[in-house]
Amino acid sequence: MPVDRVLLAEPRGFCAGVEMAIKALAWMVRAFDAPVYCYHEIVHNQSVVDRFRDQGVVFVDDIAEVPEGRPIMLSAHGSAPEVVTAARARGSFVVDSVCPLVTKVHHEVKVRAGKGYRIVYVGHEGHEEAVGTMAVAPEAITRVESIGEVEALPVFDEPVALLAQTTLSHRDWEGVAVRVRERFPDVWMPGRSDLCFATTNRQASLLALAADCDAIVVIGSSNSSNTMALQRLAVEAGCSRVLRINSAAELPDDLTGTVGVTAGASAPESLVEEVVSR
Ligand code: SF4
Repeated sequence: MPVDRVLLAEPRGFCAGVEMAIKALAWMVRAFDAPVYCYHEIVHNQSVVDRFRDQGVVFVDDIAEVPEGRPIMLSAHGSAPEVVTAARARGSFVVDSVCPLVTKVHHEVKVRAGKGYRIVYVGHEGHEEAVGTMAVAPEAITRVESIGEVEALPVFDEPVALLAQTTLSHRDWEGVAVRVRERFPDVWMPGRSDLCFATTNRQASLLALAADCDAIVVIGSSNSSNTMALQRLAVEAGCSRVLRINSAAELPDDLTGTVGVTAGASAPESLVEEVVSR
């Protein structure tokens, strides 16, 4: 049986923060002679990064690699305060394309640390957003990722605040948050969780179609936290076949029946179109 139906999740793909960052870097490419430097991948998507590389953008993981006086873009995931300072000291022109929703979490960290809180931060080890957020107040933050890690936390003398990486899946966040609240009943949390709307509404749209699918295809890179969250969600929703692919070329030939398609927040719609037509 061939594929007889494709169900497209809506919304899917590019979020507002990613669109803004990509437009800003596209403007820098037009406005300055090459090379323009970008601290970290502008967004976690290989095709987007490769396209900019072809236009003369050089991606670096250390601001010290940027020759003095060159234009610098800081990625959408948010950068540590010392990285922003170093970029401003080194670059001729600096654009910080941090998503405002990540800035909000940085602000919460700064305020809570300033008030003497111990911040329990739910985030993925080594992810650029988590690294940048923790650098706002490293002495006041303890990162956790699992319920087991919450159980292993010591009893803190300070009041406790609970914050999160924006792109966690709702399920990843919920279990850990419940356990934190059990362990620290007076925990402070923001009025709304830090999970961004682009992450949560892409997850909801995937859940809405998962039950009707014989297979689900998630388009996005393995270093994209929200893409991996979509993949996990599809598995947890009971779909028997879940594939994460970077491009249409990775699509297997044996898909059948109804296939659901979604894309992480850093995957362009052109990739979705290629996958659907394949
Ligand atoms: Fe901003 Fe959310 Fe998009 Fe990240 S996924 S760039 S936090 S809107």
